[in-house]
Amino acid sequence: MTIVTADLKEAFKKAPIKGMMDNVMEQFNSAADQINLHPNIRKILSITNNEIIVNFPVKMDNGDVEIFTGYRVQHNNALGPYKGGLRYHPTVDIDAARALAMWMTWKTSLAGLPYGGGKGGIKLDPTRYSKGELERITRRFTFALADNIGPEHDIPAPDVNTNSQTMAWIADTYMSTRPPAERTANQHVVTGKPDGIGGLEGRDRATGYGVYLSIKFWAEKNNKSLEGTKFIVQGFGNVGYWAAHFLEKDGAKLVAVQDAFGSVQNQEGINVEDLFKYSQINDGSFGGFPNAKPVDKNKFFTLDCDICIPAALGNQITIENAPQIKASLIAEGANGPTNVEGEKVLLERGITIIPDILCNSGGVVGSYFEWLQNRNGELWQLDEVMVKLHKKMKESFDKVYDYSKKEDVDMRTAAFCIAIERIEKAYIQRGIFP
Ligand code: NAD
Repeated sequence: MTIVTADLKEAFKKAPIKGMMDNVMEQFNSAADQINLHPNIRKILSITNNEIIVNFPVKMDNGDVEIFTGYRVQHNNALGPYKGGLRYHPTVDIDAARALAMWMTWKTSLAGLPYGGGKGGIKLDPTRYSKGELERITRRFTFALADNIGPEHDIPAPDVNTNSQTMAWIADTYMSTRPPAERTANQHVVTGKPDGIGGLEGRDRATGYGVYLSIKFWAEKNNKSLEGTKFIVQGFGNVGYWAAHFLEKDGAKLVAVQDAFGSVQNQEGINVEDLFKYSQINDGSFGGFPNAKPVDKNKFFTLDCDICIPAALGNQITIENAPQIKASLIAEGANGPTNVEGEKVLLERGITIIPDILCNSGGVVGSYFEWLQNRNGELWQLDEVMVKLHKKMKESFDKVYDYSKKEDVDMRTAAFCIAIERIEKAYIQRGIFP
């Protein structure tokens, strides 16, 4: 275990702020050292296969044309087609897309899926655009990506500020650009679609359910009960809401929540469904929610609780707040919410982290089920989906937990080692062309 001395803390503070790419590379290199990864494979996995940047014009409601920049980074496809979400956010850039694409490669490998890793999105603030504008932006982005995506090549999914509606527009645009006889056979170009057009029953809750299951499995391994356990959630979107929903059903108590609009707390408990309904009728915001008090957003992660679920953006738990965190468990719903320096402090303090590539992998497992359903012309029922998801999450959790105990490493290192070893094996077996 790394000991963080006062000097080291000072050094971290003075160091330039690192991007997500530095973060994922440090995590990768540390796991690669641990497993003695073959140097040639380390070289391959350290870079991305393809990086697509598209600038495209879209007509706005007032008749003006605005130019947007979209990204799709394809990190690795040794195990299968590239897979990963599309994010609409002002922080989207090539560095973020590369890092998120790499995390996807490790996540799909760890989950034992026949996929590689990709990620992308558009740099924009979606609150500035009408629904009609967002539809035209999405359709034009899909057209600009053209054959760089495809159901057997690169399969996007929802991420921050994109949802089943966004996926429906992408699927429709992509299918419309195929020759007529091939159109319906291309429905699985994206996952996370609405259930009326090939979407999977339960895909909406898959990621949050996986976060909840990861917490439950951890509690079971440690002989703890979730009844009365206090948790806080950053991000009350798809992942944060569903994780909170399932935890509350199991007796745990939501005591604080933060989103892009603000932060509220109530140590007596916040009813998840009431908060959700309130935010639905208030444009997604819970500002003014009557049963909780506003809190300073900078103090959010340091509030009293047992479990902390970052389920919004990357780089949220850092050297600045990690020393004051009260939770004994961090369950990473978001991708890359804890940076390397923050993680060192948490581990030194004996706080467990269920890493993103395990904790939020229920989403990509659900996406895999949807892809199979479309590919095979099947329709799966919700209860069947939930049972299969539970089985997959349990297998992954046990693999990581057992590896971490056996090798005496933290759960992130264990998850990375398992994921990278599977890709290393694929390269060793198939060799390098030509
Ligand atoms: P979402 O758009 O549904 O919700 C995002 C939430 O984060 C919203 O409540 C928003 O208000 C909040 N937020 C945004 N900026 C914030 C800020 N600066 N501070 C606090 N809160 C902020 O997105 P989502 O699909 O729930 O994704 C959340 C995270 O989970 C992302 O990191 C995403 O990559 C990851 N993830 C999502 C899925 C999925 O299936 N949706 C799967 C795996 C991982």
